[in-house]
Amino acid sequence: MERRILVAGGAGFIGSNLCARLVQDKSNYVICMDNLYTGRMQNIAPLLQLPNFKFVKHDIQQPFKTDIDQIYNAACPASPPAYAKTPMETVKTCVLGSINMLDLATENNATIMQFSTSEVYGDPAMHPQSESYWGNVNPIGLRSCYDEGKRCAETLFFDYHRQAGTRIKVIRIFNTYGPNMDPADGRVVSNFIMQALRGQDITVYGDGSQTRSFQYVDDLLNGIDRMMNHSRPEFTGPVNLGNPHEFTMLQLAEKVLQLVGGKSKIVFRPLPSDDPVKRKPDISLAQKELNNWQPTIQLEEGIQKTVAYFKTQL
Ligand code: UDP
Repeated sequence: MERRILVAGGAGFIGSNLCARLVQDKSNYVICMDNLYTGRMQNIAPLLQLPNFKFVKHDIQQPFKTDIDQIYNAACPASPPAYAKTPMETVKTCVLGSINMLDLATENNATIMQFSTSEVYGDPAMHPQSESYWGNVNPIGLRSCYDEGKRCAETLFFDYHRQAGTRIKVIRIFNTYGPNMDPADGRVVSNFIMQALRGQDITVYGDGSQTRSFQYVDDLLNGIDRMMNHSRPEFTGPVNLGNPHEFTMLQLAEKVLQLVGGKSKIVFRPLPSDDPVKRKPDISLAQKELNNWQPTIQLEEGIQKTVAYFKTQL
């Protein structure tokens, strides 16, 4: 029997990779929904001809009705420059969008997964971050539209679950990279690789001592699949999905330079406000609940695959 799946934000970086994986199973019928604010048609161009794929241009701030079995809510601009440019829409996408998607899931008795984020931990006072940590978030800063929007979305998911019995799954995605990232969205991996490929200066913000840990998108998709199809529907999460391999942004700049080659030099730029000092997931819950899930693609391999993609974007 056909399984009808909605991917909200399906033309974005993670959404489009997810759609490409879901359509491989011919018993899935995948509806990709996107308002194309940061999503890009080129990400889903190879899928448009498939009989089990459909694109719908729609903004989840508005209600949406269809028969559906599973919903993935990946709709929200995710790069700091993109979400901070239209902060009111970012909050509405998180809050009104989640309400609309949760109403749709509840009416259909569908399972809905929220693509939450490590940003719910803010500038963390606990390291590494486990799901039991409540976070350290500025409610009125430049990143708050995203951080607090995503936190409120989690609240809505758990309230719908408790009050209306909605079947929910919540994943907290840590920094992720790979093909279909927008080369111009201003995030660190895309910036560094594009700068290196173009022979431009590599812009390290602050002194580059802040840390992140990056997972390759295929590792994330494996975790998403295990979470959505978990044998116990009552396992709601939230569950961290990320790569615990932590390094500084200066180390990342050096690694990209080494892998891409070329003549770029590293320059330092002011650190954006509320930029978290460090971030690294505790993935013990995912390992325990998701059949020993853990990232398997090392930074070097992942960067090489991503460089190959960005070369096609020059
Ligand atoms: N960053 C940087 N140079 C850039 C873009 C970002 O040094 O050209 C830094 C940024 O200040 C942050 C880290 O890289 O500390 C990750 O930034 P990104 O925007 O990719 O993600 P997030 O801050 O949401 O983790």
